[in-house]
Order: sequence, then C-alpha cells, then structure tokens
Amino acid sequence: MKEDKTKCLIIGSGPAGYTAAIYGARANLEPILYEGMQPGGQLTITTTVENFPGYPDGKKGSEIMNDIRQQALNFGADIRQGEITSVDFSKRPFVCKSDDDTTIIADTVIIATGATARWLGLPSEATYNGFGVSTCATCDGFFYKGKTVAVVGGGDTAAEEATYLSKLCKKVYLVHRRDELRASKVMQERVFKTPNIEIVWDHVPVEILGESKGFAKNVTGILLENTKTKERKTISLDGVFIAIGHHPNTELFEGQIELDDEKYIVTQAGTSKTSIEGIFAAGDVQDRNYKQAITAAALGCKAALDAERFLG
Ligand code: NDP
Repeated sequence: MKEDKTKCLIIGSGPAGYTAAIYGARANLEPILYEGMQPGGQLTITTTVENFPGYPDGKKGSEIMNDIRQQALNFGADIRQGEITSVDFSKRPFVCKSDDDTTIIADTVIIATGATARWLGLPSEATYNGFGVSTCATCDGFFYKGKTVAVVGGGDTAAEEATYLSKLCKKVYLVHRRDELRASKVMQERVFKTPNIEIVWDHVPVEILGESKGFAKNVTGILLENTKTKERKTISLDGVFIAIGHHPNTELFEGQIELDDEKYIVTQAGTSKTSIEGIFAAGDVQDRNYKQAITAAALGCKAALDAERFLG
C-alpha cells in the first residue's frame, strides 16, 4: 500500500476536473487528479462541440479534453488513470483510497465526478444493452450503418444523437414523451430539417423488442405507448439509443456530504463550497441547471480558487 500526501486531490476528469488541475497546479497546490472510469468525461463521447469558446469552427469533444488535460500536465498536475474507491471526510486531512492501492491524504478535495446517462428502467432495456440498446450514438452508431434506429428523449443530447445517426442510418425515429422538444432552438431546427428523422411525439417506450439465438441477441423493434391516449404501437427497427438525461455520480459520497433530492452535491450559492469545510464540488456533479462544458470548466476554476483560499 502506497501513501501520498497532497494539498489538493481532484476526483474526476471532465472539463471541471482538468480545469481545477490547471488552476491548482499554477497555485502550487501540487494537485493529484484521478481520472475515473471515463477519462475526459462525457465530452469524449460526443461529436463536434460548436459552443466551447476558442474553437470557431468547432472541435471534437475528445480533442478539447485532450487539450485541457495537456494544459494541466504542462503546469505539473499529477494526473493518474484510476478511480478513487473510498473517501473518509470525517476529519481533516481527508483520507481517500484508490484502485491502484494508494492512500491519498489530502488537505482539500475537489469533487468533479460528473454525471452518467440515465436509463428508462425497462427490464428489456437491460437485456439488450450492448445488443441493440445504447446510450452513446458516437460510440455505437457505426454498427447501425444503413439501418433503422430510434433515439429516445427530447433534449439536446437526443437531438444531437438523432442528427449524428441520420448521417449513418437509413431512418431515425426520435421518440419524445411530449409535443415539443426541450432541445435548444438551433438543435431543434437541425432535427426538423433532416428528412430521414421522424419525430414520434407524445410517446414513451414500454418495451424493447428483440430475439435471442444462443448467446446472440438483437433488437427487432420498440413498443411505444401514447402518453395521452395510452394507445400502443410497435415500430420495427434495429437499435435504440436512450438519451433521457443524466444523474450525478455521487454514490461514493452519500452519507458523508449534503446531497439534494436528486443527489446533486449541495454547494453554497456562488461558490464551490460543500457542507464540509475543505471539500469543494464542481461541474455536473453539483450543477442541475446549466450542465455545459464551459460552465463545468468555470466551476472547476472556482473550486481550485476556493481550495487555494481555504489553505491560505
Ligand atoms: P435533458 O435533461 O436536457 O433532457 C432529457 C430529455 O429526456 C427531456 O426531453 C426529457 O423529457 C426526456 N426524458 C427524461 N426522462 C424520461 C423518461 N423516463 N422517459 C422518456 N423521456 C424522458 O438532458 P440532455 O442529456 O439532453 O442534456 C443535458 C444537458 O446537457 C442540457 O443542459 C443540455 O443543454 C446539455 N447539452 C448540450 C449540448 C450542446 O450544447 N452541444 C449537447 C448535449 C447536451 P421532457 O422534455 O419532457 O422533460
């Protein structure tokens, strides 16, 4: 068992975590950052990002994250692949353990663990997960070249995934539970003017249909229910992409830090300060409103500045 001491441990590696690492390293906090299961976070599984300042022609999410990561490394941040598996916030310094058998004794901790895609909760969704059901069009869209798929959801993620898939697939159904999209106007317009996207308004999936042959499984359709009339109908298709939002990754901190009713970390207004002195939170793990890469980066900056001021 190895033991490391740091003035600042950063947990998570999206725009919030990496930006906190840039600011923390420049302030001589000698931050250690654990990247977690998905280094670079959600932006690494998105397509071109058009609204991150500084990239007038847009840039791939994964490339933006590599740039921010490299910037943190250039200032000396200690970025580690791996996960923090337990935390003890009961006294300072805080004691955290990682899956590389290291105990990290940290004067401050910045939590930037982000959020994870939400599932509908249907048993058939779990059955066909990885066999026709996915939460990531850019990861799995390739397998549906020339085929018919559905995207479930009405937000920016659903609109973006439908638009992306429309370039690969013969036909894309966008299944939404209401009669208007939540997605931003620009994303909506893109969807409306794409001829091979058909929006199925006022419907929710009640079952993913499929068939199994030995170990092989595949999706053959989706059973939908009209949210107003309760009438049901089946659409034949080859794949279903679930894009119904995200939930914050706070399981590790439950019972140790104040969470709100949706399990987001509660922070004091205008700051990254949590219910525990010396623990700060930044990005989608504490932001239920904006959830943008740029707001996450800004919150990462705030968290590092709050940590620096706390240490005095
Ligand atoms: P959102 O929470 O914005 O949207 C979730 C969508 O799924 C909503 O339309 C919601 O319906 C629907 N939904 C939720 N639960 C269910 C359910 N159980 N059954 C059926 N439908 C359901 O999540 P997103 O992931 O789309 O976006 C998250 C954030 O990320 C947003 O702030 C968004 O702006 C941002 N984002 C920005 C992008 C960009 O700017 N390029 C790209 C992607 C995301 P209802 O509308 O009825 O609530």
